[in-house]
Amino acid sequence: MNDKLAGLSQTQLDAHWMPYTGNRQFKRDPRMITAADGCYFTSADGRQIFDGLSGLWTCGAGHNRKEIAKAINQQLETLDFAPSFQFGHPGSFKLAERITRLMPEGLNRVFFTNSGSEAVETSLKIARAYWRKRGLASKTKLIGRSKGYHGVNFGGVSVGGIGANRAIYGPALSTAHLPHTLLPENRFSRGQPEYGAHLAESLLEIIELHDASNIAAVIVEPMAGSAGILPPPEGYLQRLRDICEQHQILLIFDEVITAFGRLGTATGAELFGVVPDIINIAKQLTNGVIPMGATVVQQTIYETFMQQGGADYQLELPHGYTYSAHPVACAAALATLELLERDNLFKHSAELAYLLEEYIHQLSNLPLVYDIRNCGLAAALTIERAPGEPLLHPFRIALKMWEKGFYVRYSGDTIQLGMPFITRREEIDGLVNALAESVLEVANGQ
Ligand code: PMP
Repeated sequence: MNDKLAGLSQTQLDAHWMPYTGNRQFKRDPRMITAADGCYFTSADGRQIFDGLSGLWTCGAGHNRKEIAKAINQQLETLDFAPSFQFGHPGSFKLAERITRLMPEGLNRVFFTNSGSEAVETSLKIARAYWRKRGLASKTKLIGRSKGYHGVNFGGVSVGGIGANRAIYGPALSTAHLPHTLLPENRFSRGQPEYGAHLAESLLEIIELHDASNIAAVIVEPMAGSAGILPPPEGYLQRLRDICEQHQILLIFDEVITAFGRLGTATGAELFGVVPDIINIAKQLTNGVIPMGATVVQQTIYETFMQQGGADYQLELPHGYTYSAHPVACAAALATLELLERDNLFKHSAELAYLLEEYIHQLSNLPLVYDIRNCGLAAALTIERAPGEPLLHPFRIALKMWEKGFYVRYSGDTIQLGMPFITRREEIDGLVNALAESVLEVANGQ
């Protein structure tokens, strides 16, 4: 029996249609994970694999944190489920208040979801409904950005700007897109590029074309993650904020990756000094242990919805999920936020970020490396492809890394890194060295 299969039969392997995975390739050569602790996974063939992406940007505090497990178990034994509609349980209110303490001032009302994608949908629906409540029903258009990633549901895919995620599904919602901020002039920038704030002015062109009276909101990731770590050019987000303000357009930050320490701060809004109207969060909120997301809005937005209704929720916001504010997820999130604070993990992340920047840019002269970007404890390489070749180099690099005992993410033409906040310095060094070796091997056709 192949131990890479963790004892699974072929029928079992075939039964699971895996997400964002080349299923046929995986099922020929499975990369099965059977356990996790601290910064390491255990693979089915018994190896320790360094977790170079904190799961999927989720597990910044490291794996198998006893504090979180304990909180979950306690919650399970007291209240395993509570109806989320028309009834409450204390954990969700405590968590909501705890989250608002980490958000920019004014963003102090929290709507719970179960994922980043659902947080995005919630924010887009709130934006449209908000203008309707204010008597401006024509303000419906949603503006995204090229290369943006906002999850996989229809609204998120529509404002999203990664072509491969949209094309196969046919027509999306009617949206418009800002240009992305990945400029050739900024190749190999360290942290935020200096050049590119003017790209925010494209919003003025969109406004001219569609008229602000038809536009509900602009949604951007303050630092785009899935497209391969695109930090905002200096001044860019502020310029977007100003234009939105002048034209009565809501600004939504999708902070599903950036909230709770990835950038060394509670939010990207805090790091970049720009306060949006709505922030979406997920991933690190529960350290990835239980699915949970949320949409956090300015108090004024919430209050606009509270002007009618009373007992009739249909007059407030007819929206919510069976598992919104699930008691077990709330317990996991409360324990996570407690742990992040107690162990000073935002600060740890910020300190490691300097080191990652230093090390990763040492790879700039390697063959195949077209660009390197970093922001907070996140970095990406853009890998060249030979003309006419499919985008397989990054995947092959990621496979080499797995063989060498490191998990990194390949997406499109990029390799992405985002290690846990509890990583040791020498582990970053080890990962970057292994990455250099892997790139060289792939460049040499090995
Ligand atoms: N928004 C952003 C910015 C994300 O990075 C992601 C996930 N990578 C999502 C939304 C979607 O989150 P989920 O996969 O939890 O639905």
